Amino acid sequence: MDAKDRLDVENAPERKKNLARLGFKVPMGEEQKEGWSGKLPFYLFICPNCGEFQKDYPHSWPETQYLWCDDCKIKISYVRLRTEAKMFFSFFGLLRQILRFKCFPPAKK
Ligand SMILES: [Zn+2]
Repeated sequence: MDAKDRLDVENAPERKKNLARLGFKVPMGEEQKEGWSGKLPFYLFICPNCGEFQKDYPHSWPETQYLWCDDCKIKISYVRLRTEAKMFFSFFGLLRQILRFKCFPPAKK
């Protein structure tokens, strides 16, 4: 977190801080940092390791997304429910295909 992020965390409305205390990743709006080509959504959350408020944006690909605690230098998994659901159903789609193949193998010529 840079100085601006620290200030944003300090000045965050108590309502958002309370949601973060409950374990939610609370949206803080989109921001574009210096050198970025576009905006990214930022979240307020509490690091499960140090218990401090943090503000960060999701890193990496949707399937492996994480937030970063700048104090502990650790990754906090943040795969969105939407992505988890998609991964869950694609797994079952695959399973269904395998089962279908096993139960009804293509006819031999
Ligand atoms: Zn931490």
